[in-house]
Amino acid sequence: MSETSRRAVGVSVNTLGKDFGEKRALDGVSIDVEPGTFLVLLGPSGSGKTTLLRCVAGIERPSSGTISIGGNVVVGGKTFVPPERRRLAMVFQDYALWPHLTVRKNVAYPLATSSLEKSERAGRCDDLLGRVGINHLADRYPNELSGGEQQRVALARALAAEVGLILFDEPLSNLDADRREQLRIEIATLTREAGMTAIYITHDQSEAFALADQIGVLNQGRLVQFDTPENIYRHPDSAFVARFTGVAGEFPVHVTSLMGDDRVAVALPFGSGHTIVASSIESLKPDADVSLFVRSSGVTLAEPAHGEGVRGVIRDVAFNGRGYDHVIDVGEGFSLTKIFATTRFERGRNVKICFDPSACFVMDPTREVSE
Ligand code: ATP
Repeated sequence: MSETSRRAVGVSVNTLGKDFGEKRALDGVSIDVEPGTFLVLLGPSGSGKTTLLRCVAGIERPSSGTISIGGNVVVGGKTFVPPERRRLAMVFQDYALWPHLTVRKNVAYPLATSSLEKSERAGRCDDLLGRVGINHLADRYPNELSGGEQQRVALARALAAEVGLILFDEPLSNLDADRREQLRIEIATLTREAGMTAIYITHDQSEAFALADQIGVLNQGRLVQFDTPENIYRHPDSAFVARFTGVAGEFPVHVTSLMGDDRVAVALPFGSGHTIVASSIESLKPDADVSLFVRSSGVTLAEPAHGEGVRGVIRDVAFNGRGYDHVIDVGEGFSLTKIFATTRFERGRNVKICFDPSACFVMDPTREVSE
């Protein structure tokens, strides 16, 4: 039997609501998380991510709805299972280690109630310290560690708990960029190796895309899209999701023809009304006035003599290691940002811009989708 099938549990959240006085923090959220899935809850500040995670953990009591973990109802009707009996581990933003215990004892803490022999427990603890790369810190106390090291201890402690679900509350937000990247990779690999289901909250879309098997996007207490990272990037359901997951530009456009297969031709508000082909997210009428959302991967740059494309002028260029990110003025006060090219186009240069229909979407900018 694989570790995944032994440990991971599914989580089912059904029409969950949570009110804080007048404030509706969660509004009918339903999510089914398959065992072994790494789910990232993504949303802006105040969208309800923490409240949802805390309801799953049992730290917060929902106002309505049900939650099951591993097929057992933990919230519903009169049932409310306290956090310590939900068989889950948590990694918090602020590490939450026991200050009076050494690193080794912090990691061994969840094993105290385990049926393992003492020597097996010590072996498991050493193995976990090794996996998160902090064997050499085993005898130190938390106040003798950096933030990144403390978070590694918290991760090892969560992995030590013999449970099928691990909850992460923005665990990387207090770390600098380098440490964030390293620890992100370790969280992704070690959680999956341990065969645990994960629910991870962040407001950082690149972190969400990098970690998730599934992403749940929250806005104002509602789940507005639940999908794979690829589908969220390629088929955002609403203008909110498109914007929140990163666009290089958003422009008012006019539909000039419907081309079938979800493709439409639209007239741009710059480039002398140049027409491009884009993907339509909803069924549109010919002549509709809508918005065009352009992902940065939906634009390529070419020399000005290139036959196709729209004219633009480079306003800014930034080296990012792999190549260059450009900001381009396209006329009529519009611009595109974060347009990548492996070669550098200097400031003030004329370029031609070519649009890829699969990464350019058209929809009503006020479109909302409720799950
Ligand atoms: P952030 O990314 O800033 O942590 P979030 O998406 O996690 O935000 P929540 O912390 O879940 O959002 O908050 C959702 C809404 O509920 C917010 O408007 C918040 O002000 C409100 N809220 C959360 N906890 C309480 C509380 N204990 N009392 C009153 N309002 C609360």
